[in-house]
Amino acid sequence: MKCPYCSQENTRVIDSRPAEDNSSIRRRRLCDSCGKRFTTYEKIETIPIIVIKKDNNREPYDRSKIEDGILLWLESGDCSYCLFVDELAGEQQVVVKPLPAYLNSFNMKNAGIAGCTILGNGSISIILDIPNLYQMAQTY
Ligand SMILES: [Zn+2]
Repeated sequence: MKCPYCSQENTRVIDSRPAEDNSSIRRRRLCDSCGKRFTTYEKIETIPIIVIKKDNNREPYDRSKIEDGILLWLESGDCSYCLFVDELAGEQQVVVKPLPAYLNSFNMKNAGIAGCTILGNGSISIILDIPNLYQMAQTY
């Protein structure tokens, strides 16, 4: 272990004891070059949580991104669900239309999509099938 004061590598352990509820080992070290002491902790290496993004990119789990999200409470029939979303765009009363036939050929009804609607600005919005999404989440 390199000394943090003089960067020499000839340091040695002079005391070793369990720390943090026995989940790590605290070691006091002495540098033979400059005589200063410092502390190191030995911990079990954990497997990092990796988030797979929609575009299949992978990035390390970042707790702050979860804390910045919104948890939606949804009810459908006798069941209620929580859905984690990045952003809430707004709330509108809409008429749900069935998906166009060319999309049904991709089996969209079994992909958590119930239909679509045309918004006031002319854009098309997908309507989620929450019970179907929930079943899919339990399958994976
Ligand atoms: Zn030193």
